Amino acid sequence: MQTVSTLDFARRGRRYLRRAALAPVAAAALALLLAAFLAHPARAAEAQAAIVPDWGAISAPAPAPARAIGGYARGCLGGAVALPAVGTGYQVMRLSRKRYYGHPELIAFIQAFAKKARADGWPGLLVGDMAQPRGGPILTGHASHQIGLDADIWFTPAPARRLSADERETMSATSMVAVNTMTVDRSVWSSRQLRLLRTAASFPEVERIFVNPAIKRAACAEAGKDRAWLAKIRPWWGHTSHFHVRLRCPPGDTACLAQEPLPAGDGCDSGLDWWFSAEAQPKAGPPATGSRRRFDFADLPPACRGIFFSG
Ligand SMILES: [Zn+2]
Repeated sequence: MQTVSTLDFARRGRRYLRRAALAPVAAAALALLLAAFLAHPARAAEAQAAIVPDWGAISAPAPAPARAIGGYARGCLGGAVALPAVGTGYQVMRLSRKRYYGHPELIAFIQAFAKKARADGWPGLLVGDMAQPRGGPILTGHASHQIGLDADIWFTPAPARRLSADERETMSATSMVAVNTMTVDRSVWSSRQLRLLRTAASFPEVERIFVNPAIKRAACAEAGKDRAWLAKIRPWWGHTSHFHVRLRCPPGDTACLAQEPLPAGDGCDSGLDWWFSAEAQPKAGPPATGSRRRFDFADLPPACRGIFFSG
């Protein structure tokens, strides 16, 4: 055990007292300087704008009323609810990402959709990304999914057993599109997937479902006479192994920015053909890496600052 001599103790004490006497003076001076700096409105705005919030780092929903705030690709979410990892007719994938949150309407939709799909013979949904606990920009993988009204559902049916935690992280989704052919892969695409899309589209709150153009083209060819639901099936890049369901703004959710209404018709016309043109193909070359999309608070609706910092 170390002993401290009386002399030593006294020396330390004097040093401490000197510091203690100086500390309040230093702190007050610093506070004054900071106040003077921030009192300048332009500088304060600058300092605030410089903060790039990491929405993915927040682990709990904002304790606020359920509210989708802003647009699907530029907004945030108050009062989010977590979708339980397993439920009747569905299992949630990639739990470690913590993107299984949504507006209560999205949670209710997935649970109802899973039951309806199962009643229709689909073995079970595998649910991919939804939203972060407070929504907001996602730094990897999605431009949208920001206000808790988007969900990715795999085209791969769930197995009859409960997936292990490890399988939920590592199991991969099957692409429905044959490589380099811009057609569906008949060894995996079937009328079952078509029926699943139709079931999802049958919910009035579902406004759009994004799929690869090859899948839209297959749906157009195979839908038969019942075609009104095809209007909701929208071609988009990617989306070969999952479809992306987007709900309309919930009624009364006034901060939610609605999208353009759907164009008339089933979308199986020349507009769809464009997607197969050279112009529509993604530019060749390696994908841009390391370019984190930057979303300052200034890029989002003002209410998102409160959502980010609340609780
Ligand atoms: Zn998506």
